[in-house]
Amino acid sequence: MLPDPSPKSNYTHYLEGGGEMGQLIRDYDWSKTAIGAPEQWSQSLLTTISLIISSRFPMFLWWGDELLQFYNDAYRKSLGNDGKHPAALGQCGADCWPEIWPTVQPMIDQALAGGAATWCEDILLPIFRNNQIENVYWTFSFSKVKDAPGKTGGVLVICSETTEKVNADQKMEKTLAELADRESKIRYMLQDAPVSIAMFTGYNFIIESANKQALKEWGKGEEVIGKPLVHVSPELNGQPFLKLLKDVMDTGIPYYGNEVRGLLKQQYKLEEFYANFVYQPMKDENGKTKSILMVANVITEQVAARKKVEQAEEMLRLSIESANVGTWRLDIESNTFIASPRMKELFGYSAEEEVTLADTLNQVHEDYRQQVADAIIKSIASGKDFSVEHPVLGRDHQNIRWVRALGRIYSMEAGHPAHFSGMMLDITEQKQDEIRKNDFIGMVSHELKTPLTSLNGYLQLMMLKLKEPNGDFMASCLKKANVQVKKMSSMINGFLNLSRLESGKIHLNMEHFDLGQLIRETIEETNPTLHQHTISLNTCAEITVHADRDKIGSVVSNLLSNAVKYSPKGKKIEVNCQVTDLAAQISIRDEGMGIKPQSLEKLFERFFRVETKHTENISGFGIGLYLCSEILEHHKGKIWVESEVGVGSTFHFSLPRGT
Ligand code: ADP
Repeated sequence: MLPDPSPKSNYTHYLEGGGEMGQLIRDYDWSKTAIGAPEQWSQSLLTTISLIISSRFPMFLWWGDELLQFYNDAYRKSLGNDGKHPAALGQCGADCWPEIWPTVQPMIDQALAGGAATWCEDILLPIFRNNQIENVYWTFSFSKVKDAPGKTGGVLVICSETTEKVNADQKMEKTLAELADRESKIRYMLQDAPVSIAMFTGYNFIIESANKQALKEWGKGEEVIGKPLVHVSPELNGQPFLKLLKDVMDTGIPYYGNEVRGLLKQQYKLEEFYANFVYQPMKDENGKTKSILMVANVITEQVAARKKVEQAEEMLRLSIESANVGTWRLDIESNTFIASPRMKELFGYSAEEEVTLADTLNQVHEDYRQQVADAIIKSIASGKDFSVEHPVLGRDHQNIRWVRALGRIYSMEAGHPAHFSGMMLDITEQKQDEIRKNDFIGMVSHELKTPLTSLNGYLQLMMLKLKEPNGDFMASCLKKANVQVKKMSSMINGFLNLSRLESGKIHLNMEHFDLGQLIRETIEETNPTLHQHTISLNTCAEITVHADRDKIGSVVSNLLSNAVKYSPKGKKIEVNCQVTDLAAQISIRDEGMGIKPQSLEKLFERFFRVETKHTENISGFGIGLYLCSEILEHHKGKIWVESEVGVGSTFHFSLPRGT
């Protein structure tokens, strides 16, 4: 048996190698420490150190009563760069680690006392290194290293710093928690979003998920999840949606639908809907579309409301157009004036021209211009409605037309600046009617007074002459008075008929009578000799008609008295009759002044009178021909005229013979 190696060679043998730490341990002046120089170290300590320095796993040793420290290269990096190393070597544990001593000492004591080894994983032991307290995590085991009996051994710490791993784990956990949180938020948001969201997968468009709103719009429950779209809503066949989904699947290009109309079965019937939506392709890592995300906003109500407004606008536009009303709008701030084509036409401008407010004011009749301008300013300032009636002189056609302008100021609203707008109605006809009506009343009063004055005169005369036995004078007076009374009653009858016609109360007393006879009587009553005219009657034998005798009588009487009134003394008047089985046609021809072509079409209008030098001294109300045409219309007959100025006129009327 070989002798034991000498103590010297013994410790050198154990402390050999061990990298840098091995060298440092060898160089350290251990003689000043409690364990003395290596020559005095026990076998157990030497073996342990040898084990430590040869391991590449981080190891640490507290040895002896003072717990002097040893460690290897692998451990060094945990000491930081602040000079703790190599100061930690050979130090007392309690001096080196005051910051963790209260935690580790019990574990050391436990190990030294021979208890079970300690195993700790990822434990936080904040240590002072790099000039600060750092949170350092460790996984370690404390186990006892025995020495010779009766001597304190040491505690071997096999450890690994897991700070990076723990930090990474914590970071990962935090990220995962955040992700989970975010995902649940997104899921929640999508689930409760006020728009329909659904995912369709594959060419069968399996409903993979659908949020509450989508299910609500479809009128379905959760049971549709996992089923093909077309099975869930077969009514989609023939509608654009399935084809659009297929296109998105084929092309991988999203589809944006704007106000698309569709039908979905709700309860038992198909309901119309409108939606804005997007079909977004969802692609796999190879760029192939696997699913389609649908996000849809159903806007049926908005579309219905908008259509209602559009309809109302269209109706308003149509009624404005059919009422031939001009419209205008003045932007208060920009002073821009917009006039409709009809408005421009009323003011004598062409529809394409730009017209300003000043242009239109220029065409207002000068007597009214200031008044109109003042009314506009006042209305804008006060916010009260604007309403004026004034004549307008058309710039191009130079026609005077009466208009009623109505307007209002509208304050600024979203998207609409403050503006003053309204419409323009052509009231020329009403205005002319009003003027004619006033003239008419004046004339009526005057005309009724004339026969009354004559009657009064004749009555006075008769009273004076009553006592004188002159029968001829009385007879002539009575005859003249009678003529005046007839004149008045025919005038009053005319007015009565007019007012009955206007109020729709005209009543026809239909009877069978001989029209020829009626014409002869009327010629007699017209008394042409009094006015020095001759009336000839041709071919009017017996013509039985079914009509209102008095009213047809007033037609004939009107036409005859007009022929007398509007032709010079001594002229001939010719009455002709033509009869068929169905109708009788009467023509009254005079050799009078005739009527201008432009007046012909207005001749049968109420209150119309041709105003010429010739007619200004001929009294009349402009209602005779109007009444004739109305009476004939009520009999389903007709009236018309042929005339040539300076030659004469022929008035014809036809009357169905009736049964
Ligand atoms: P008035 O009471 O004015 O005669 P009417 O309605 O009978 O009213 O006639 C309308 C107008 O038609 C007259 O004012 C006249 O200018 C014109 N007129 C009617 N009959 C004739 C006629 N026979 N010849 C020429 N003008 C006529």
